[in-house]
Amino acid sequence: MPTFVRTDKCDGCKGQDKAACMYMCPHDLMRLDEDGSETGHAMKAYNQEPEQCWECYACVKICPQQAIECRHYADVVPLGASVQPLRSTDSIVWTIKFRNSTMKRFKFPVRTTPEGSADPFGGEHEAVLADGKDHSTLFTKGTHSCDMSQFVSF
Ligand code: SF4
Ligand code: SF4
Repeated sequence: MPTFVRTDKCDGCKGQDKAACMYMCPHDLMRLDEDGSETGHAMKAYNQEPEQCWECYACVKICPQQAIECRHYADVVPLGASVQPLRSTDSIVWTIKFRNSTMKRFKFPVRTTPEGSADPFGGEHEAVLADGKDHSTLFTKGTHSCDMSQFVSF
């Protein structure tokens, strides 16, 4: 079921250029109601098309205020429970709150290398994208044959 924003927690990402949830949503669903004309809550975010939300949790995880929640199906947690993630640089903690106030926490690592240490090029040279016609700089060179005429040149 779709996400919703808790207006008591959302701070509009302190009025930055783009709210974190807006930046993160792959479906472009999150909006910041700057003047309150859409929702009656100025500088609070909202899910503009809940029926389009695929519950990927990206906005829930990125929100620095833990202001976004997602209602769950009964096969995830019992109805009425809440599931809230809290990310750090190396792990994520899921907090489950049940209707009877029981709380459970589960912690998982989210990476195998220290933050900032990943080598995105894996020892290969960096791709040169300045000249879109020069495909010889792409990693795929030599790994399989391709018909260069299939590429669109600008
Ligand atoms: S990321 Fe969280 S705090 Fe920032 S605008 Fe969205 S809901 Fe509000
Ligand atoms: S759960 Fe995913 S699809 Fe739904 S609003 Fe958040 S980021 Fe967008």
